[in-house]
Amino acid sequence: MRRVDKLGRIVIPMELRKKYGLTEGARIEFLDVGEGITVRPSEPVCRICRARIAEDAALPLCENCIAEVLKSQRD
Ligand SMILES: [Zn+2]
Repeated sequence: MRRVDKLGRIVIPMELRKKYGLTEGARIEFLDVGEGITVRPSEPVCRICRARIAEDAALPLCENCIAEVLKSQRD
């Protein structure tokens, strides 16, 4: 359990910051989902390795994972 401080701040648990690549300065967004609030990275991340990718990326994958997928299809 976490408590909200008087300025409305909370600390995101370390394991979740690591999992979602939330280093200092990372952008997050809050979504009101009716029964609560979802907090998520606002920058697009690779669906496989969660590395950050460009806002205008054609695929939801980083260059490394695209290369891996293409390589695995050749074999
Ligand atoms: Zn990736």
